[in-house]
Amino acid sequence: MIGVALLGATGSIGASTLAVLRQHRDRFRLVAVAVRSNWEALLPIIAEFGPQVCAIEDEQAALSLSAAMSRHHPRVEVVAGRDAASIAATCAGAQLVVAGISGFAGLPSTWAAVAAGKQVLLANKEALVASGNLLLNMARQSGANVLPIDSEHNAAYQCANGLHCDKSRVRAITLTASGGPFRQRSLESFASITPEEACKHPTWSMGRKISVDSATLMNKGLEVIEASLLFDRPASDVHVLIHPTSTVHALVEFVDGSILAHLGPADMQVPIAHALAQAASNLGTQIERLPLDVPPLSLSALGALQFFDVEPQRFPALGLAYAALRQGQGACLALNAANEVAVAAFLSGELRYTDVVPVVADSMARADLTNPGDINEVFARDVGVRAIAGDLVAARRTA
Ligand code: NDP
Ligand code: MG
Repeated sequence: MIGVALLGATGSIGASTLAVLRQHRDRFRLVAVAVRSNWEALLPIIAEFGPQVCAIEDEQAALSLSAAMSRHHPRVEVVAGRDAASIAATCAGAQLVVAGISGFAGLPSTWAAVAAGKQVLLANKEALVASGNLLLNMARQSGANVLPIDSEHNAAYQCANGLHCDKSRVRAITLTASGGPFRQRSLESFASITPEEACKHPTWSMGRKISVDSATLMNKGLEVIEASLLFDRPASDVHVLIHPTSTVHALVEFVDGSILAHLGPADMQVPIAHALAQAASNLGTQIERLPLDVPPLSLSALGALQFFDVEPQRFPALGLAYAALRQGQGACLALNAANEVAVAAFLSGELRYTDVVPVVADSMARADLTNPGDINEVFARDVGVRAIAGDLVAARRTA
């Protein structure tokens, strides 16, 4: 039985992971969960899966959960505060950690899991974008395996048969993007886009931050950086195509001209199940594939697969991300931090949709973009960029 720590258990990745675990109780056991504050949503998860450790960042929410636990589940250990998710990630019973916290907030616990040598199923792309090779070098030192569950990266991993995509074998990696809800909306009406419209993704159901990133295509930009790091390829070898139905998730082109594409339903259970099987194999339990109860993809119902180039004026975030990747790790960190501030301001109604990417670009123009030397510098730099981006949001809000 493999012990699993699920970071971000109450989110969208959390729900998809629980759906897979529910179908494979004979192989995986949920031993720890971590969330920010949503203790009520944890109650049915605790009742169903019986984790031993429940980590909640918010101290008040932890008190409420503790009170509820002492009545019904006295053996559950509730941990609270800033280090709570890292405690869950490194608990002794967890061999495998699903890093499903949203945003840079997930970096401390993702880092802790990697440093502790766990099998780390990585959804939390912002942690990798911000810390870059520092995280991957730590994995090499500790013996941790980082397994992508971001659907495109998991797809490329399957096509390339792992993360090793050296130049003698692989020519390029293409990530697909649905194009989000505004692929065909008139550019003149972009200024009036509301958070509700931006969160209505045409093919995936996800948390609000990644949904906005999918609308601007910043998500694809972060994914280009993620792919470049994971597969150790330069920006010029990672391509993006618009593919509205999200049927093909990634394509890997080999040096002989062959292209392998990964197709599958737009359901995060699929990449999560693949990575769980890989992690189990790494831990010594050979599993080829975990069967899943998801509706099969019908290609005849779909009829055709369409691909388009990205329009730069519609999606300026993608070019910004490529520029950051070419510039280096400090720029990627700044891109991520400024984007988190701008997206949060848009979601709370403080910033117009059309100001999100300009705030990121202006923040990067002012920030220190030299490469951080260690993980402490990553955290300090993130704070600095957020301050710059916050000032720029305030200036645009009052302008
Ligand atoms: P959601 O917003 O749905 O969920 C976020 C989860 O993280 C919640 O459980 C939340 O807890 C928890 N959380 C947030 N901040 C903290 C914190 N400081 N400490 C502990 N827990 C915290 O996000 P998604 O599931 O959509 O996305 C999660 C990550 O996965 C992101 O990095 C995203 O880019 C990536 N991803 C998501 C995909 C998807 O389909 N959703 C696809 C590919 C990647 P609480 O409920 O208490 O707030
Ligand atoms: Mg993705």
